[in-house]
Amino acid sequence: MARAPFELAGVRVAPGSRAQIDVPVAKLYTHAPLHIPVEVVHGRQAGPVLLVCGAIHGDEINGVEIVRRLLRSSAIRRLRGTLIAVPIVNVFGFVQHTRYLPDRRDLNRCFPGSEAGSLGSRVAALFREQIVDQASHIIDLHTGAIHRTNLPQVRSQLSVGSETAAMAEAFGAPVILNAELREGSLRAYAQSHGVPVLTYEAGEALRFDEWAIAPGVRGVLRVMRHLGMLAASRRRREPPPAEIANGSSWARAPIDGILRPRVRLGARVARGQVLGIVADPFGNSEGEVVANADGIVIGMSNLPLANEGEALFHVARFEAIEEAENAVESFQSDFEGTPDTL
Ligand SMILES: [Zn+2]
Repeated sequence: MARAPFELAGVRVAPGSRAQIDVPVAKLYTHAPLHIPVEVVHGRQAGPVLLVCGAIHGDEINGVEIVRRLLRSSAIRRLRGTLIAVPIVNVFGFVQHTRYLPDRRDLNRCFPGSEAGSLGSRVAALFREQIVDQASHIIDLHTGAIHRTNLPQVRSQLSVGSETAAMAEAFGAPVILNAELREGSLRAYAQSHGVPVLTYEAGEALRFDEWAIAPGVRGVLRVMRHLGMLAASRRRREPPPAEIANGSSWARAPIDGILRPRVRLGARVARGQVLGIVADPFGNSEGEVVANADGIVIGMSNLPLANEGEALFHVARFEAIEEAENAVESFQSDFEGTPDTL
């Protein structure tokens, strides 16, 4: 029997073809229509339905570029199953350069959403009904917050299913964080319906970070190979397996002032180590930002201005710290100075 077409938002995509679909989401005040842009690549042969989505937080744009490169990759021409690629979920926030929706809600706290609820709730319900509920596997692309950058890392709840853990490992990011589910997140919604979800966090909001984008594209393709959607790669050199962090915490500013960091993203640090100094403009009064555990710096502030209590360095703890350090170093030598492949 011939494979059925894939239907999304009333558009039928024949096997062996692809289509760009504008899913109507709302109108601006001007009544100009707003769409969520989607591309469906429907393979000739049956297989998983993978959703790859970016900018659910509107200012997290590395994922937008990851999706663009994924769709232009020659690898996906012979796809098994179906790829649903959504470069920009929160189209409102993207236009406004902000994480949030116009009603100041976080779309990634609005799932499953409701058609009669707030704007956030309605957008979540529409995205879920039209797109998310069709997926058998999901990769959700994020970055750090504004002025904060993340070492490329995969976050997922590894205890739930071995498929999620296997996908997380296949991605090949240097760090995997076993992260609790946040209520209302896409990850919590899908995971509670038995759909494995990875969250990829890399780089900084409102920036293109090549060392976050290139491994993101590679990671999605690696997960697709793991799922049997793409043929196995002929390139044999595999990255060392990522270490799973068994917890993380933020080192915070001890006083208000100006920050001078002493470590870089990806650095291995020891408990008690000074990660940075916060001082007044003359340097008369200074406070040390101290690591409260041995670990690896997986996130940090890029803004040298801090209020007391502000989160400045995100330190992940590992059982096997040497292996974690090796995975990060090998990753950095692979991707630092990666030429732009635009
Ligand atoms: Zn995010």
